[in-house]
Amino acid sequence: MTEKKDLDWGSLDFSYRKTDYSYVSNYKDGAWDEGALTSDHTIALSECAGIFHYCQEVFEGLKAYTTQDGRIVCFRPDMNAQRMADSAERLVMPAFPQDRFVEAVEQVVRANAAWVPPFGSGATLYVRPLMIATGDVIGVKPATEYQFRILVTPVGPYFKGGDTAVKLCVSPYDRAAPHGTGNIKAGLNYAMSLKPGMDAHAAGYAENLYLDSESRTYVEETGGANVLFVDRDGVLVVPVSHTDSILPSITRRSLVQVAQDLGIAVDERPVAWTEVVSGAFVECGLCGTAAVISPVGEIHDGDTVVVFEDGHESSGPVMRRLRETLTGIQAGTIEDVHGWVRTICS
Ligand SMILES: *Cc1c(COP(=O)(O)O)cnc(C)c1O
Repeated sequence: MTEKKDLDWGSLDFSYRKTDYSYVSNYKDGAWDEGALTSDHTIALSECAGIFHYCQEVFEGLKAYTTQDGRIVCFRPDMNAQRMADSAERLVMPAFPQDRFVEAVEQVVRANAAWVPPFGSGATLYVRPLMIATGDVIGVKPATEYQFRILVTPVGPYFKGGDTAVKLCVSPYDRAAPHGTGNIKAGLNYAMSLKPGMDAHAAGYAENLYLDSESRTYVEETGGANVLFVDRDGVLVVPVSHTDSILPSITRRSLVQVAQDLGIAVDERPVAWTEVVSGAFVECGLCGTAAVISPVGEIHDGDTVVVFEDGHESSGPVMRRLRETLTGIQAGTIEDVHGWVRTICS
């Protein structure tokens, strides 16, 4: 086993720290090169590179971590490979081949094994694949050259408060246009959610809840996490978008499968904001790679306050059970019947 770096794993926050290696591959003349590890954590680009002008950028996020029995693993990297290919296609970027994506994740995590936090620390090695247009573009069109890169960085838990329920507010802004780019992982979706996010934080909220921008009727998601509800019959209710503007969270899709495995009923359907206001739901949670599920205790919309009775202070019973099951599968303490956990080093 590699000797670990001398870090205080328990007190890491969610910020960037350079590690030993990143992975890089360049696309030119219609093909990806063979790709390699690099210890250069900078990128030198032409001022005319497409990324700077028309924002051709897509990214992914997953984590590598240590299981109870000491393996370094990651969770469903094939799903990130697929989603990044889908994101790239939407922005007319060449997909990085999916098998090579998974190999590159393994290669860069292995090379940085000393940076993978130990089991039980709560920390993980965050893996951030990204792709940018590097070729010169001045007229509006897709570039002909691209860079695919993976950086890794050790991070602590995303939400410092642990299992403390957070408050959301309904945003006066929209996150994604109907049939736009809300269903892909593109940096441009985040650029425009920064102001609403800062406003929400300044007003004391953890995040914004966005409604569908076509009718402002249905619940979509927050700036960076999908939302889940539990109704009064214990059914897990998962919002679906009429306008295809919810990001397909891998955590959410995994939790739906976990719920089915546990015999929890799942209803995936459009969820009207008025239904949330009517008190139909007793639990609410946000899901994503970083936090798995974090509990939402209240959602405010002007003077309207929705309180989730069974998860007001911390996770309610259904969310808790889902989170404990999924994190148990991830940690290797619960059997991984679907083959989701991929061993990188044992
Ligand atoms: C990445 C992301 C999520 C969470 O997806 P996971 O695959 O579960 O990490 C949710 N919403 C948005 C907008 C995202 O960018």
